[in-house]
Amino acid sequence: TATAEPLALDNTYARLPGEFHARATPTAVSAPRLLRLNRPLAEQLGLDAQALENPAGVEILAGNRVPEGAEPLAMAYAGHQFGNFAPTLGDGRAVLLGEITDRHGARRDIQLKGAGPTPFSSRGDGRAALGPVIREYVVSEGMAGLGIPTTRALAMVTTGESVFRMRAEPGGVLTRVAASHVRVGTFEYFARRGNQDAVRALADYVIERHYPHVADAANPYLDLLEEVAEHTADLIAQWLLVGFIHGVMNTDNVSIAGETLDYGPCAFMDAYNPATVYSSIDQGGRYAYNQQPAIGQWNLARFAECLVPLLADDKEDAITHAEAVLERYIERFETTYHDGLAAKIGLQERREGDADLVYDLLECMAEQGADFTLTFRRLADLGAEADERDQAVQTLFNDPAGFDRWAARWRERLAAETRDDATRRAAMRAVNPAYIPRNHRIQQVIDAAEAGDYQPLDELLTVVARPFDDHPELADYARPPKPDEVVQRTFCG
Ligand code: AMP
Ligand code: MG
Ligand code: MG
Repeated sequence: TATAEPLALDNTYARLPGEFHARATPTAVSAPRLLRLNRPLAEQLGLDAQALENPAGVEILAGNRVPEGAEPLAMAYAGHQFGNFAPTLGDGRAVLLGEITDRHGARRDIQLKGAGPTPFSSRGDGRAALGPVIREYVVSEGMAGLGIPTTRALAMVTTGESVFRMRAEPGGVLTRVAASHVRVGTFEYFARRGNQDAVRALADYVIERHYPHVADAANPYLDLLEEVAEHTADLIAQWLLVGFIHGVMNTDNVSIAGETLDYGPCAFMDAYNPATVYSSIDQGGRYAYNQQPAIGQWNLARFAECLVPLLADDKEDAITHAEAVLERYIERFETTYHDGLAAKIGLQERREGDADLVYDLLECMAEQGADFTLTFRRLADLGAEADERDQAVQTLFNDPAGFDRWAARWRERLAAETRDDATRRAAMRAVNPAYIPRNHRIQQVIDAAEAGDYQPLDELLTVVARPFDDHPELADYARPPKPDEVVQRTFCG
């Protein structure tokens, strides 16, 4: 081809029937400037990072130019928001430029978030403020660093324009990469309109793109439900194991591909408190940390309802099948969660009483205000016998006596393990991160960036991209907030 485009896009979603999407072209911004390009991700995706950093690339990332051959669109979707059904949501501030095929042959969406109004914007401006763009970039890259399935952030640009939220804020555009942006809410959009042909077409599309191995099964749609349930169970278990609170687990924010999707008022916990809520819009605590497994099942039930007509000829049979999947979801969640907790305290084998042992630690942490991340990370450095190293953990508890009692039981249990202690400690360090994108750090990074200082951003990205490494020169990023640094609430973009 004569001119090589920095992004060679195809768009299979555009070839789905017209009711699946609306054509939407990004609206140009006055002064686009590339704030960050995620070079490691660009390379993993097989993209030319240099070409994306050049003016022709930045124009695309800002929405000022649509790459040749792209068919940009806004996806249609509905969703249950805090339990209430909204029949028409859709991409109101995001434009799907198209899809690329990554180095492993996997298709990935390239979406511009904050690229201007679409037919789904209703009264919204279609824009994103820089603060939430930075939050999503940092937290999603932190999630990827933790090895948890997530959408990724390829780039962020500043627009040179203001957006008005509670105040005038600098605007930004995030380039988001996803296995796909199909959500539970995408199915609900068609199912609630009684459009069974569209539900089937969407299910077929999702199977081909994400779960091709179920295509030839006896009941592919039931297997699809099972796959989504398993991926969701594992995802939520992994969130809990790192102290993550999504914040807005509405069905329109639940990815059918099993990725963490839509980083709004999300946060990682500092001190362990299972009832933690951060989101300013979650007054009732529906999406609190410890509610997430149950909410995951509730969301899957909404997905199952969409699929019922496809699951069996007889409606009763279909419902019986779906209910069995939803029960297996809970079992799957518990298995992944308990295995993960056991690994966090260094247990390789599984014995009766292991779950109680780790639950007792969690209870003690909650009572004594212990930092979730540091407790597990420092536990990895403790020896098979109590000694002065225990202090590093004791100091995290208001009253260390409870921890000491627990540690004695823990060491008794460790003695029954067959692997040697050095191996145990290395294994613990590999599952217990030293760094999470802590809320107070994100706030400091955003404040600094708005004032033109991007060093805190780069430092935070360095540690969260490799959260299991020590980074001695940036060790301050591992520390919990001081009382005056604590962020109580996080807000939507
Ligand atoms: P979210 O809270 O990001 O999950 O968004 C919920 C719905 O509101 C989606 O349909 C979004 O597209 C829409 N939305 C959120 N912010 C805006 C905005 N600034 N302009 C237009 N639509 C928006
Ligand atoms: Mg959303
Ligand atoms: Mg959002």
